[in-house]
Amino acid sequence: MSHVTYNPWHGCHRYSEGCVNCYVYRRDDSIGKDASVITRTASFSLPVSRKRNGEYKMPSGSHVYCCMTSDFFLEDADQWRPEVWKMIRERSDVDFTIITKRIARMHECLPEDWNDGYDNVTICCTMESQKQADIRYPIFMALPIKHREVICEPLLTPIDFHGQLDKRIELVVCGGESGDKARDCDYEWILDIRRQCIESDVPFYFKQTGASFRKNGHLYKIERRLQMSQARKAGINYRHH
Ligand code: SF4
Repeated sequence: MSHVTYNPWHGCHRYSEGCVNCYVYRRDDSIGKDASVITRTASFSLPVSRKRNGEYKMPSGSHVYCCMTSDFFLEDADQWRPEVWKMIRERSDVDFTIITKRIARMHECLPEDWNDGYDNVTICCTMESQKQADIRYPIFMALPIKHREVICEPLLTPIDFHGQLDKRIELVVCGGESGDKARDCDYEWILDIRRQCIESDVPFYFKQTGASFRKNGHLYKIERRLQMSQARKAGINYRHH
């Protein structure tokens, strides 16, 4: 299966504590670009673009990560989003993953024929702290969505889901923060979320340690290239039996 990144617009506004060290800002700053200016990109029509021979450029069966340099439900993109929904509907042969912190806006941003969700869309809601989990989780679970994932990254505090994790969640992803200014992530927080997942039989994936990782009271500075492999080595991912 081919993995594709599709960025219909670029740029964002900081929204919650997880945004403090936003990688879009970091990357744009390094090239003298202002990430708070929201622009429609040249690849806006990528899902329905065709090659000379008439075939779609995005092969059937692709897995598409949508809007990785912005937030899909950003206000500034309200004018463009209906056209993207149309393309997503046309490409029912392709899976789209949308990661958002702005789950509170999703309801007002849905297309008319959304009903109980498009089969080919997975919505991933980011909950980086207890505060955001308490706000976003109930909203997320009340929305009509066919495929849902929870993303606790960058994980900034322990999170108690108050026994509310349920099997409609297809995956919980956890990870620390990367970059020079990364805030600490504690392995105990990761393990505790994993415990809650296992209790509710929800798959769990430890994606990366982040750059500043506390384990058994010691703080480890971990190089970027080792952050994912160290997480993998922990061997704590969980799938349904
Ligand atoms: S929502 Fe995402 S892209 Fe937007 S500022 Fe926050 S971290 Fe950056």
